[in-house]
Amino acid sequence: MLKIIFTTITCLCIFFSGNDPYLLKRQGMVKTQIENRGIDHEETLKAMLKVERHLFVPEKFKDDAYNDNPLPIGFGQTISQPYIVAYMTAAINPKTNHKVLEIGTGSGYQAAVLAEIVKEVYTIEIVEELFSSAKKRIESLRYKNIKLKYADGYYGWKESAPFDAIVVTAAAEHIPPPLLEQLKDGGKMIIPIGTPFLNQNLVLVEKSGKDFKTKSLLPVRFVPFTRKK
Ligand code: SAH
Repeated sequence: MLKIIFTTITCLCIFFSGNDPYLLKRQGMVKTQIENRGIDHEETLKAMLKVERHLFVPEKFKDDAYNDNPLPIGFGQTISQPYIVAYMTAAINPKTNHKVLEIGTGSGYQAAVLAEIVKEVYTIEIVEELFSSAKKRIESLRYKNIKLKYADGYYGWKESAPFDAIVVTAAAEHIPPPLLEQLKDGGKMIIPIGTPFLNQNLVLVEKSGKDFKTKSLLPVRFVPFTRKK
């Protein structure tokens, strides 16, 4: 009897997960790590459920892709913890008609999550190898609304500015003035600010006219925002 129940449950799981062996893990991640910790932004939850995080990590970490931590992606860089990706996404309150700039493409995961919600995502990466592999991944996943650039993100993406929101995924010591300039009036930027590997805080910046307000939201630990020599 037990065997029949077990087989039926296994079959149902396989049936409902289609050809995605990680669906159940992803649903668990969204429920326990994100929803249960208070993130209730509907579009963010939907996007985190949809994007297959295991396709953004190195092969040897596939089974760990839905764990509650960041993971190495090579070149001393990491893909952020799922909760932090969701937190930053929800913090900018993305809308379907938005154009968003991301600094620090890394694996391309945060860009993909944003691309499920907004109209256009522009993302910049400073490590050439990461830029190339993210570009390939984003193309193979057929995201037509993500544009990638290999450059120092400190200067933003002037030709495509202004942006409704900016997400910076490497810890800077100050808010880069060009990014502030490229933010729309009323736009939001989320950026980790602090010392490399030490005291950092996620800061929400809101621009109003020539002025801006900042609010410290959460202590975090990000890889450093580096500069081109
Ligand atoms: N958002 C990524 C994770 C980012 S890790 C993801 O979803 O996988 C931070 C990334 O920022 C690293 O890939 C690092 O190389 C990049 N980075 C650091 N300084 C940068 C800069 N000045 N311009 C652009 N990218 C930068």
